[in-house]
Amino acid sequence: MSNVIGIDLGGTKILAARVDEDGRILAKHHRATPVEEGGEGVMAALAALAAAVRDDASVGVGVVSPGMIDAGRGSFVGAACNIPGLEKIPLAGRLAEALGLPAFAENDGNAAALAENWIGAARGAKICVMLTLGTGIGGGVVMGGRIYHGVGYCSGEFGHLSIDYKGPKCSCGGTGCAELYASARALAVLGRQALAASDGTGIEKLIELSRGDTRNITSKMICAAAREGDAFALGLLDKYARPLAAVLGSVMNSYNPDRIVIGGGLCPSWDLIGPRVEKELSEGRALPAARSGCTIVPAALHEEAGVIGAARVAMNQLRSSGISRRL
Ligand SMILES: [Zn+2]
Repeated sequence: MSNVIGIDLGGTKILAARVDEDGRILAKHHRATPVEEGGEGVMAALAALAAAVRDDASVGVGVVSPGMIDAGRGSFVGAACNIPGLEKIPLAGRLAEALGLPAFAENDGNAAALAENWIGAARGAKICVMLTLGTGIGGGVVMGGRIYHGVGYCSGEFGHLSIDYKGPKCSCGGTGCAELYASARALAVLGRQALAASDGTGIEKLIELSRGDTRNITSKMICAAAREGDAFALGLLDKYARPLAAVLGSVMNSYNPDRIVIGGGLCPSWDLIGPRVEKELSEGRALPAARSGCTIVPAALHEEAGVIGAARVAMNQLRSSGISRRL
């Protein structure tokens, strides 16, 4: 059986894996991203990691990264995850040269959605939309097993859906963007504001978890307190579910997907957040026809979604281009 190399390039870590045709990881290696060595240093690290995991049955390589990537050309459109000089390097072309294998590049959010649709939480879905709730909100859309890119490779930027046209300015230049209200960071901000405005009753658990300084409260601490039944934390999740449901309802109305996958730091707490979001959705935040056909599920692949998605990107490209008849 032939295999493909998947590489997940992040701002702090690079993970490379040899992945078989069923999505199984056969070997993997990782290292810190040598950001200080610039684009050329990072390219050398990518090639070395890929070489370390490949074997005689490897027929291609896929690399994924944050930032907008022109999947057709295999290179960045604009900035490249804060690595100076990397945006000028044709990512896929250089890897192909270094390894003597066909190489392809893709945005990491798109690749994660593809991986979840292939062997993860959205297996079998016709239209899979993934939203990653972290510092911001990333995402990807997969239709019929193929990534939907849009003409400018910025499809799936759900963090910048405007959900309040009179809201605060976002770093993207937009107004009232979804990630200001519905990211994991937004839950932490909501918690800090509520704690600062509180008269001190009922916040003992959150004081304990934040070791006495509630200005440092995180979304994870809020979820941990909620899991223990803390009423203040549960109230925060009730509030947080409203903007999140507004985002998910808009996504349902736009794409009419059969599966929405939730990834990122809040994924392990989806059993607490999910029912609150469903309640909001049932009260009219999505068209009934869009909502009834859609299931919202937590991601299944976590840390490995990037490399598995990268490998799948390469497999899809190799198959459709006819380069490899071995896949
Ligand atoms: Zn924005």
